[in-house]
Amino acid sequence: MLAQFVDIHGVAKSKSVPVQHLEGLLSEGAGFAGAGAWGLGMAPHEAEYMVVCDLDTLTLTPWAPGYARMMGTGQVKGEAHAVDTRNVLKRQVERLADRGWTLNTGVEPEFILVRRSADGQVSVFDETDTLAKPAYDYRGLMRGRSFLERITAALQAVGVDVYQIDHEDANGQYEINFKYADALKSADQIILFKMAAAEIAHELGAICSFMPKPRSNATGSGMHIHCSIADADGKNIFHDKTDPRGLGLSKLAYHFLGGVMEHAKALTALLAPTVNSYKRLVVGQNASGTTWAPVFIAYGDNNRTAMVRVPYGRLELRTGDSAMNPYLASAALIAAGLDGVERELDPGEPHNVNFYGLSSGEVADLGVEVLPQTLGQALDALEADELFSRTLGERVVGEFLKIKRAEWGEYCRHVSQWEVERYLSFY
Ligand code: GLU
Ligand code: MG
Ligand code: MG
Repeated sequence: MLAQFVDIHGVAKSKSVPVQHLEGLLSEGAGFAGAGAWGLGMAPHEAEYMVVCDLDTLTLTPWAPGYARMMGTGQVKGEAHAVDTRNVLKRQVERLADRGWTLNTGVEPEFILVRRSADGQVSVFDETDTLAKPAYDYRGLMRGRSFLERITAALQAVGVDVYQIDHEDANGQYEINFKYADALKSADQIILFKMAAAEIAHELGAICSFMPKPRSNATGSGMHIHCSIADADGKNIFHDKTDPRGLGLSKLAYHFLGGVMEHAKALTALLAPTVNSYKRLVVGQNASGTTWAPVFIAYGDNNRTAMVRVPYGRLELRTGDSAMNPYLASAALIAAGLDGVERELDPGEPHNVNFYGLSSGEVADLGVEVLPQTLGQALDALEADELFSRTLGERVVGEFLKIKRAEWGEYCRHVSQWEVERYLSFY
């Protein structure tokens, strides 16, 4: 039995516990040294970080026969720990529940399947065909079969309803979709999916990489979040077929969207949390065509160049990438959306233009802004937006900023091979 929690990066941390001790995991929990995990804000002399498991998350892990996993949340001295991101999401979910609402999310992971040779060279898992336009290519899909079939079977065996898999627009890049669920369950499923992906790839001598932009000239790996709110009867109250704009959205959905637009820049830090994320969030083209990167703070019907696409009656927030912590990202989405609902914010009119085809002047004339273009800018926006420390908690936002500022600083000080090649003998 694996007793688990996630660190601030959304990486699963585990202890292996013989099943005879399952009951203890549900009452006092499994003890961890809190200072051993990224971003719990704990020192080595502090009380034990106890992970109390949630029975609802009990599931077998078919790729590791004989094992099961339970996800939990952290407690210190019997109190819910404020920096545990699963606790942070639970608190936001409760704010919705107070109104009789549930946020349903469909989280869409993209990733690349690669091999790394002994000398560190990274290549596509099966590079027998290098495709000029890989999106939806049959051959590309087949080259990933050994991995895709195993992971699908493993997820189905534990009740995760996989409904679509495709080859994306970079060689060796895939997306697996499973059915939406409430925000907490979706986040738990993403962690389960990443565990399965890591182990099944490892068995095949591969790496399943969730790096946001692994190659300069190919599309990055996003993690879009589809969302809608259900009322106590399970009815989607984001949907209204009388919407005069024809997008099938209710007033509530527009207000929620208004909040997401208002806090878009600060949200970016939590949705696209690495230095590398901002090499995905660029305007323009790559070798095989468009990057599909949603850098414009706008929404539109089926507009994949805008930050939010509206696939009729729900929202697809496209900012996020596969490095996000799904608990923190979903919590921030709820906080931003609820702010929009409370303040009845108006998201403005939809834009159905291909933003990639417009000059920056034309975009500005439409009153549309661009998302932060570096991790540093996104962190500044997060720090400047008091909503997140007020709702998610000062401690978790402070811890995130501290860790991410260090990452950004380290990157900025690093002299890269690109710089050496560009400048060494240039002048
Ligand atoms: N790979 C794109 C991204 O980075 C998304 C492509 C798609 O719309 O599925 O967001
Ligand atoms: Mg995709
Ligand atoms: Mg999508």
